Amino acid sequence: MVNEPIVCTNSNCVGCNKCINVCPAFGASISKEGKTSGGPRVEVDAAYCTACGACIDICDHNAREYKDDTEKFFEDLKNGEKISLLIDPSFAANYPTEHALVLGGLKELGARHIINTAFGADIAGWAYINLINMFGFKGEISQSCPVIVSYIEKFAPQLIPKLFPVQSPLICAAIYARKFLDIKDKFAYISPCMASSLEIKDKNTGGMVSYNVTFSKLMEYVRKNNISGRPETDEVFYGLGVIWSRPGGLREMIRYYLGEDIMSRQISGQQEVYSYLKKNIKDLSDGRTAITLIDALNCKNGCLCGTGTEPYKASSDEALTFIMERENSFKKKLPYEKKDSQDERLRELNIKFSNLNPNDFLRTYTDRSKETALKPVPSPEANRIFLDMNKDTPAKRSFNCRACGHDTCYKMVEAIYNGFNHKENCVNYMKDLLIKEQEHASYLAEYDEQLGVLNRRTIDSLLSSSFTVKDKFCVVIADLNSLKGINSTYGMQVGDSLLKNVADGFKELHEKYGWRIGRYGGDEFLVILPDINITADSEEMKLIISVLEKPVDFSGEKISMTAGVGFSNSDGVTFPADHIPAAENAMLMAKRSGLNKPVEYSGEQKEEIRKENEIRDKVWEALTNDGFFMVYQPKVDALTKEVDGFEALVRMKTPGVYPGQFIPIAEKNGWIWRIGRITTELTIKQLAKWRDEGYKISPVSVNFSSSQLSDEGYVDFVRECLEENGIEPQMFEIEITEGLFMEKSNHTKELFDGFKKLGIRLLMDDFGSGYSSLGYLTYMPVDVVKVDKSLVDNYLVEGKDSFIKNLITLMHDLDKKTVMEGVEEEWQYERLRSFGADTIQGYYFSKPLPPEEAIEFKVK
Ligand code: C2E
Ligand code: CA
Ligand code: CA
Repeated sequence: MVNEPIVCTNSNCVGCNKCINVCPAFGASISKEGKTSGGPRVEVDAAYCTACGACIDICDHNAREYKDDTEKFFEDLKNGEKISLLIDPSFAANYPTEHALVLGGLKELGARHIINTAFGADIAGWAYINLINMFGFKGEISQSCPVIVSYIEKFAPQLIPKLFPVQSPLICAAIYARKFLDIKDKFAYISPCMASSLEIKDKNTGGMVSYNVTFSKLMEYVRKNNISGRPETDEVFYGLGVIWSRPGGLREMIRYYLGEDIMSRQISGQQEVYSYLKKNIKDLSDGRTAITLIDALNCKNGCLCGTGTEPYKASSDEALTFIMERENSFKKKLPYEKKDSQDERLRELNIKFSNLNPNDFLRTYTDRSKETALKPVPSPEANRIFLDMNKDTPAKRSFNCRACGHDTCYKMVEAIYNGFNHKENCVNYMKDLLIKEQEHASYLAEYDEQLGVLNRRTIDSLLSSSFTVKDKFCVVIADLNSLKGINSTYGMQVGDSLLKNVADGFKELHEKYGWRIGRYGGDEFLVILPDINITADSEEMKLIISVLEKPVDFSGEKISMTAGVGFSNSDGVTFPADHIPAAENAMLMAKRSGLNKPVEYSGEQKEEIRKENEIRDKVWEALTNDGFFMVYQPKVDALTKEVDGFEALVRMKTPGVYPGQFIPIAEKNGWIWRIGRITTELTIKQLAKWRDEGYKISPVSVNFSSSQLSDEGYVDFVRECLEENGIEPQMFEIEITEGLFMEKSNHTKELFDGFKKLGIRLLMDDFGSGYSSLGYLTYMPVDVVKVDKSLVDNYLVEGKDSFIKNLITLMHDLDKKTVMEGVEEEWQYERLRSFGADTIQGYYFSKPLPPEEAIEFKVK
């Protein structure tokens, strides 16, 4: 097999697929996706290519070219290789004025003999005629065209027995020259045909010819190198064989010798000849035809305008006229002229070649169809490939737009199955893909991709665009309770499928009742129920709850969830969008209540929110307008009843707003660090003022909120304040809640170390109000523990109070002092003192006082 490519693709290829469409050799033009080559391309597989040239003709981009032996021929000639020329008759026809000069030039370069292959055609014709006459050949296909031979060997091997078993005129001429003219040189074929390269390299032609030198490349070389010489012409006299080079020439010749009534058919041109062979393959191979000879040529205008000729030649009749003149002169002038009966003409021909043995000119063919055999597509595979191309209907499967290069969609399936093409080359597939991508993009803009319900943005705009204040509707928000826990216990996948389960349940409600479902946060769903108001125990709410709590089976284990559910009914005055924060608030209430019951957003909550907003405005006002001041609650030594310190507590100048209200709001809004600095500064300045007024000062503690952690410069701020006011660090203390001590992050450690370095004492505030753990007291840098009022209230009662006593003892063992908070009664004080409490802070001794009163305070 000659696998050296003759036709190949250059870098001009844009992947337009026209070459695939005109290629008669299915599989020769292969579409490559071009991910690496920077774009789609169509490559040639030499094993399939028959070098018919159709792709070169059709290509708008000059992306297909062919190779011949011209360069090598000239190189060898120059190196002194002995080369004789076999000239196709169409050379003179194509170049009536130049050919003799060119041949002269070639001779001057060293070419030896010049033999016209028309003489070979005479021999081949003689052999054909004898085979027909002697063996009654029928339906035989001429073999003078190497493309036809290659096509039959590769794609229609059933017709191989029908190819005339005679060498082509070229090879006949070469055999004759070797045997009878005794020329031992290499032969170069001056050729109109690029496919002759296939022929001369085929072992069935005996390696007679070494170079295929096509007219195009030869003339290009000749012009470039100014090759010309004394006119030279053929050395061997030839006959009617000259007409083989035109379409139907062979047929003419046969008729000339065997009579007009011999049934022959002439067919040429890539578009016709292969479909003819395909269609008639059965009849031809069975011999069920009345036709004796089929004169088949690949090129529409025969070898005269073959694939190796210069294309512009085909546009004029010059070459054809030349051949016809030769034909006529042969018929008239030559010894045949008087022989007007076929018998006599034939006798003359046989006499002429009587010294030849037909066996010298026979040839065989090789079945090459194994290499090009198509894998037949099993129908499930075909179906799969169709579906892969998005072709799921008969209409889509017979779109047959040919953009992929194949005539039908089914052919494309065959091509894909055989690796000749790929689905990305299907225009409709790509269009579908694009449309799907666009649809997906607009879907994503509206929907939550994971759960397939509306996304938050869509829900927001839906409420404000599709509902008015006057409409009746209800907004429900459900927040799943334990998703985090489920994720960490069972894995994300289980969490995801629980979420999906809920979303699917909601989608059913959407389909049944038209409720709109959205995902409002990670594990938060929002449902809008149009046209109704509902209650916590309405049927509608029951449906929602059942969706939320529907269990899912995970390998035998039923897992279900609970949710905090809040809802807000339309009321004719609230803007639709405002029902979302309302429902959210109600949901938070539901969660806080822990009762697992839906909560409706009520007037009370409305009032709460309104109030919170009001306080927020006041806090902001105070922050920006020096609106805070400090009061000081004395801490009294339990034994001596002497004041041994104060707790500084912040107040707002605006009356009616208390720290228990505004501190959480400041924390929520991220303002607490500013309050922290204000109270610190006010307190330290107060200490300085007392000192300056001549009082003996004692330590004052300020409160440090856990939300103040983000204030990284706080320690420096305290130091600077102390330095500026000349206050000893021991006079300034910080109360930090229990919870913050337990956090144990690098950040808190740094902070506590910072305070300690400054020499500031740390008080643990609200001990006993949360998850008190005594363990950490052993290593925390805490100097004083303030026991929370709730602990005092709960345990300082008959029968339980040994607990308080033990606690105080324990603190002392740990080397901590205690402050008992919220002491309101004398008996409480007495009992605590008897238990060894160090310091008492409470209304029993004093409420927080303005500074001038606090500094004068004494226990009576
Ligand atoms: P806290 O730190 O536990 O402060 C003690 C609170 O208990 C003060 O309320 C105080 O007036 C009150 N109290 C003291 N003795 C008694 C008593 O015998 N009976 C009762 N019923 N209450 C008593 P206040 O000043 O309203 O402060 C409440 C909370 O606000 C404080 O609790 C503290 O957490 C926070 N807070 C107050 N001032 C500041 C501040 O300047 N900064 C920060 N971050 N938080 C502060
Ligand atoms: Ca405190
Ligand atoms: Ca406290």
